[in-house]
Amino acid sequence: MEHEHPITHKMEQLRLHHTAASAPAMIMDAEKNKQSAMEFFDRILSAEIQAREESRIAASLKISGLPKGMSLEKFDFLFQPAIPKDEFMLLSDCQFIRQKENILLFGPPGVGKTHLAAALGVKAIHHGHSVIYYTAEELLMQLKKRSDVPVSKQRRRAYVKNALVIVDGLGYQTLDRHETHLFFQFISARYMKGSVIITSNRSVKEWVNVFADDQMATTAILDRLFHKAHIFNVDVKSYRLRRFDNIRNIND
Ligand code: ADP
Ligand code: MG
Repeated sequence: MEHEHPITHKMEQLRLHHTAASAPAMIMDAEKNKQSAMEFFDRILSAEIQAREESRIAASLKISGLPKGMSLEKFDFLFQPAIPKDEFMLLSDCQFIRQKENILLFGPPGVGKTHLAAALGVKAIHHGHSVIYYTAEELLMQLKKRSDVPVSKQRRRAYVKNALVIVDGLGYQTLDRHETHLFFQFISARYMKGSVIITSNRSVKEWVNVFADDQMATTAILDRLFHKAHIFNVDVKSYRLRRFDNIRNIND
């Protein structure tokens, strides 16, 4: 192995992994170009910070399980007039995560719900938040693995500790009583503690059928979920659908 420059070695000790190897060449380059020490130091620190940020984002995207290639920049808002672009873009500052608010996206298959949910997940990671993406089926599988312990007591599980949990495609599958109870526990554990984004192909009025025809459980889930929620109906065809501020409006 090539002999390591003492500066590289010291930088490795300081865990400046991204710039350690190239530092000696950067120093020689700076001397040749009569760069000031101030400029040089700023340049090398900036390079380290940027590289570190890029690898953090890449690692977080991988861990999150987010589907690839779905960004807000790639979403064509002209093609989907049911989603008001200005209002939706406001969410990209991720204030909703700091406020522990939820986002609900309703609409038939193929209208861009998964894309929009995943795109907000990507934004959240860029803003430094932890994110986990599940299909509704995957989430239920995870919840069942630890159904011996109440969700509120599970601190280490991804669906508890991540700042943002995305549940994609709720309603494709009808939940049985046990699954409905686990899902209620999950929503309760997130309530006021962390954000949830849910996409569903079924309207709120149909959710009682999703949740084992259990009206009480459905109401309890909706109540917590809608307490602080941004709701979007992604359906160009329907005039009936509108956005709601909370569950109470739905019963008007
Ligand atoms: P849904 O989750 O509502 O079933 P998806 O988000 O999976 O729909 O969208 C289906 C496909 O179409 C995806 O590949 C998605 O990226 C793409 N797509 C849907 N709507 C748009 C849009 N308005 N702009 C760009 N791509 C879109
Ligand atoms: Mg989808």
